[in-house]
Amino acid sequence: MRILVVGGAGYIGSHVVKALLDSNIKVRVFDNLSTGQEINLFQTAEFIKGDILDSDALLNALDGVDGVVHLAAKKAVGESMEHPEKYAQNNITGTLNLLNAMVQQKVNYFVFSSSAAVYGMPKETVLDETVPVHPINFYGFTKLEIERFLGWYDRLKGIKFISLRYFNAVGYDETGAIKGLEKNPQNLLPIIMETAIGQRESFSIFGNDYPTPDGTCIRDYIHVSDLASAHVLALQYLTQNNQTQILNLGTGRGLSVLEIVKKTEELLNLSLNYRFADRRHGDPAILTASAKKAKEVLGWEPTHSDLENIIRSTYRVYQS
Ligand code: UDP
Repeated sequence: MRILVVGGAGYIGSHVVKALLDSNIKVRVFDNLSTGQEINLFQTAEFIKGDILDSDALLNALDGVDGVVHLAAKKAVGESMEHPEKYAQNNITGTLNLLNAMVQQKVNYFVFSSSAAVYGMPKETVLDETVPVHPINFYGFTKLEIERFLGWYDRLKGIKFISLRYFNAVGYDETGAIKGLEKNPQNLLPIIMETAIGQRESFSIFGNDYPTPDGTCIRDYIHVSDLASAHVLALQYLTQNNQTQILNLGTGRGLSVLEIVKKTEELLNLSLNYRFADRRHGDPAILTASAKKAKEVLGWEPTHSDLENIIRSTYRVYQS
């Protein structure tokens, strides 16, 4: 099997590439290196520098490929509300280019990196895949739109897909194989780490008056190596069952912002400089996944996602 990993030089993409290589699957990475980084590339994977807005480059990259994992997307929620046009062009137009190139090249298996952002502000706190989808930001809208296009491409063109709705991706490969740090991170863990290594003076905790035990938001933090293994299983499932699925990827366990901050201080034996700030617009109090369906369908279970491992694996990369 040869798999094209679109966005394979990025944070999640590089972990997916490693998991595929570790499973003896041949990998070709396609990435424009806008946020992906050369340092995340593996010598044992082919690399094509290209952009998903370039249809000819995609047709060329798809030559001889059995399936595609697509992770090339813009993902900053706040930016998506300020510059929806960038998100429309990259996440929607770019993905449609990719799907159209797949139709032309007769590549029928597609693993899509979707997001819990498709759910918006659900009234449920534990989300399974039947919870209604109502994105409240443009980023989440782009992910949902692509899932809907995929439904049609499945029916009309036989593209079988697995859409993986990630919860909060965190952590780094424990063998230290992936070293690229995200530039200008907006997410909690990298911001805590930048503070821990002294690159950032302090950070804010957005809200301490939520209806949760300590007042801070609760999320489902899933180790990126666990996310990566789900992509391998998804490709194996597609080739064996030729069937489309939409799956949440989370642990089912909720952790509050303060719990993460305190555990980081304890494990790294340091004191983090933070303050409580206003709630961030659009943040639900609690979001956790039901991981039941992914287990039933793929036999997938997180094995790297305990908090200590998440913190230590991330810190190691930040420290070096
Ligand atoms: N958060 C925070 N301070 C920050 C960044 C994030 O308190 O500087 C909180 C945020 O409000 C949310 C949680 O950390 O409750 C996770 O946020 P992140 O942006 O990492 O992921 P999201 O859940 O928005 O996808």
